[in-house]
Amino acid sequence: MRFSKTFIKTLREAPKDETAKNGALLTRAGYIHKEMAGVYDYLPFGIRVIENIKAIIRDELNKIGCEEVLLSALQNPELWEKTGRFSDTEVDVWFKTELSAGGVLGLAPTHEEPLTNMLKTYVSSYKDLPLYIYQFQTKFRNELRAKSGILRGREFLMKDLYSFHTSEEDLDKFYNEVEKAYGRIFERLGIGDSTFETFASGGIFSKYSHEFQTFLPVGEDTVYYNKDKSIVLNEEVLNDEVLADLGVSRDELTETTAAEVGNIFKLKYKYSEPLGLKFADEKNEQKNVYMGCYGIGVSRLMGVIAEKFSDEKGLVWPEAIAPFKYHLIGIGAEGTKAAEEFYNKHEEMTLFDDRDLRPGEKFADAELIGIPFRVVISDKTLKDGMAEVTLRKSGETKLVKIEELEEL
Ligand code: ATP
Ligand code: MG
Repeated sequence: MRFSKTFIKTLREAPKDETAKNGALLTRAGYIHKEMAGVYDYLPFGIRVIENIKAIIRDELNKIGCEEVLLSALQNPELWEKTGRFSDTEVDVWFKTELSAGGVLGLAPTHEEPLTNMLKTYVSSYKDLPLYIYQFQTKFRNELRAKSGILRGREFLMKDLYSFHTSEEDLDKFYNEVEKAYGRIFERLGIGDSTFETFASGGIFSKYSHEFQTFLPVGEDTVYYNKDKSIVLNEEVLNDEVLADLGVSRDELTETTAAEVGNIFKLKYKYSEPLGLKFADEKNEQKNVYMGCYGIGVSRLMGVIAEKFSDEKGLVWPEAIAPFKYHLIGIGAEGTKAAEEFYNKHEEMTLFDDRDLRPGEKFADAELIGIPFRVVISDKTLKDGMAEVTLRKSGETKLVKIEELEEL
């Protein structure tokens, strides 16, 4: 991408009402634009980060046999009434809207109901199961507080996966597969060493659910951990029964704050029963379908990673999700010509700062935007066929042969 050709400008100041670090930095660096509290637009740099996060999730889910769909955001209240979830006392986060023809529609806060209902068209026999179906979709929730930048939006991007099984054993087996896939996803996103599978309340049908919590000073959740025993639990399940269950005592636990980046639930018949999703087993008996659901907060993840990997100068993206690999700057006539040549060969992975600005301003923006490798080709470095490479993460600078830049 040529910087001169995008509408994005970096900003010296974040909006006054943007108190969260992730929101402020991502806005200043040109990744997002705030529409109003809890509602953000994703700009060209931002969408590249989102797409990189999605690609990693998609890759790991496809590997365990999941298939992708895109369900509607507008919701039919009838379905949600069947599960008792259209009521504002059950789910207090609905945005509802009036139909001009009369009646009310909801904007999806999640998708258990419509997908379960949809599958009645496609599932009738045990031979049709199991199914693992996911999407990347915009959710709408009328959150009470939305002051954490993109960590908590009223409109946000979620990956939601739902699984459908003939038996509890089969659900348990797949649940374990997802646990492992989530581990690989967070590892690849660069937050593997700070993201922990955490015991959380399970609702009615299983003792626990599991959350994936990234330790983070501004995280909204409080969790307790014991590194030696590899136990992390949410404060909502910190009680004597659970402690006995997990074989750990209160004074062996340390408290910290964390952001929930994902969670997984065994739902059993919670939605299949009221919505009537059944299958015929080998004896042709009608049975309820077993279900599980598995979320990841895609836009929240971008915020968590921005919070985690940043310094006083700006963002520091892990390479796997950075919007570009190279932040390219040419200095002097010959240096700029050589930079153009490099750009023509590596357009897709390069942000070429070809704006008519002083090098100092471009360097400051490179630090703010946080691309892993700043590559400067000047008349001087070019004499030896070199480029000056600065690693955003460590600040380390070295000279690299231009034809060896690809190996970085
Ligand atoms: P939270 O406790 O943070 O409200 P939740 O339990 O309501 O989360 P789910 O409904 O299970 O979350 O959604 C799955 C994932 O979507 C969560 O693990 C989280 O990462 C993300 N998420 C939930 N609510 C929001 C939000 N308002 N803004 C951004 N991401 C969210
Ligand atoms: Mg919530």
